[in-house]
Amino acid sequence: MILQPKDTTLAYRCPECGTTVMSVVGALALSGDVIKLKCSCGCSELILENTSDDKIRLTVPCVFCPSPHRYLVSRRLLTTRELFTFPCAYSGIDILFIGTKGAVLKAVEESDKELEELIDETEMSGIHDENERGGSYGDEHVRDMILFTLGELSEEGKISCGCPDGTGDFLIESRQDSVVISCKNCGRKKEISCAGHSLDAQMLFDCDSLYLEETPEQKN
Ligand SMILES: [Zn+2]
Ligand SMILES: [Zn+2]
Ligand SMILES: [Zn+2]
Repeated sequence: MILQPKDTTLAYRCPECGTTVMSVVGALALSGDVIKLKCSCGCSELILENTSDDKIRLTVPCVFCPSPHRYLVSRRLLTTRELFTFPCAYSGIDILFIGTKGAVLKAVEESDKELEELIDETEMSGIHDENERGGSYGDEHVRDMILFTLGELSEEGKISCGCPDGTGDFLIESRQDSVVISCKNCGRKKEISCAGHSLDAQMLFDCDSLYLEETPEQKN
């Protein structure tokens, strides 16, 4: 096999055996329907599925959560970035690394250190007092991913609000513990928490469109 410069390296951590599973996938291979990258222990796999609208749905095992996380991203993201990392929305720890081999190796190494620190911290403070873990550094990874996902959806015209199609004017604001997207025309908005254990964020990462509802405050 001849390595092309466009080859993409993917890495994730196997939740079963703890190994970092790394695979190199050629740009052409990324156009297949479904690609499965298995850990050598056979207990976990990373799944890439091509969707009809030139996106790739990633199903990624998570070392923190009982079920894998899903992300929907544009295909060009996988082949054009030097490095892109995907955080677990609950722990904030990156669970998938995509990019050039060198960049991925380096990112995995850095993330391993973060992971070790987080485990130490969790053991000392007890797993259940996550509410008091304010300002956890992992939140910033989740924030980046929220900003990125909203940016992509907005660019593709996949965000709708109270305005007629295509006329919403969206503003994305980063706040202390959340990201708020609002329409400057009709005033509809949605707040997505980036604090640990954010269900909103996890849902956002896996969606291909976003609808801003009329009165989100009243629904809670
Ligand atoms: Zn394994
Ligand atoms: Zn997770
Ligand atoms: Zn609007």
